[in-house]
Amino acid sequence: MSKEKQTIHEFDLNVIYDYFSNVERQGPGSQEITLKALSFIDGLTDNSKVVDIGCGTGGQTMVLAQNIPCEITGVELWPDFINQFNQNAQNKNLHDRMKGIVGNMENLPFQEEDLDLIWSEGAIYNIGFRRGLNEWRKFLKQGGYIAVTENTWFTEERPAEIQEFWQKAYSEIDTIPNKVDEMQKAGYLPIATFVVPETCWTNYYSIMQKTQASFLKKYKGNKTAEEFVGYQRYEAELYYKYKAYYGYVFYIGKKI
Ligand code: SAH
Repeated sequence: MSKEKQTIHEFDLNVIYDYFSNVERQGPGSQEITLKALSFIDGLTDNSKVVDIGCGTGGQTMVLAQNIPCEITGVELWPDFINQFNQNAQNKNLHDRMKGIVGNMENLPFQEEDLDLIWSEGAIYNIGFRRGLNEWRKFLKQGGYIAVTENTWFTEERPAEIQEFWQKAYSEIDTIPNKVDEMQKAGYLPIATFVVPETCWTNYYSIMQKTQASFLKKYKGNKTAEEFVGYQRYEAELYYKYKAYYGYVFYIGKKI
């Protein structure tokens, strides 16, 4: 769901969520990049507390659950995604290791200084990178980690078409050094950043493209569905045209 929040509210949410409900991941990502980011996190034990914010149906949560020894709580605004998340956990026999709860990243139901790791792939943009880093920090223990992906400019200057598109869709988009600076200012030691490979985006867009035909058939004549797919196709076209200029970056920080 690499879409901007404000536009989402202009459409019928049910239809939009239906569009994303049949895929494993709702944003660009992969098992490999989840594991790569995880390799920077030290010291997780059976008793650690891990939270995956904006977890969707739990594609990346499952990878975490299969590779760390503790329980993970997925938090997600959309109840249907959480039902799917818990069903997926059950199917993979991971339900004792990962639990999905309905919740809002703007008002998380956790205690202060309690968590060892906050994870969030393709979701922090909903609250904004700066606000998410600042507001979520209090839930982490000292020395706890945060790992998030964020849409980022790769170059100092960009062609006007893509500059304007993302400025409007997500005005917090910025360069890696500026994002790292924000992480530092929010009270984290920046541990690592790496660019999420292009294949994560091209896989994501090609999976979504495959679902578009049946989605449009199901919602034939529905303006919301048609406009939404139109917007998705435009976003994907822009990505293929301008992928040298932007993409997701993983940011990993440690609370100091
Ligand atoms: N992490 C998943 C999903 C990314 S899509 C993946 O990478 O596949 C972003 C998710 O954030 C969506 O599932 C959306 O419903 C959720 N979301 C949006 N606003 C939210 C909020 N305020 N609180 C919690 N989740 C939210």
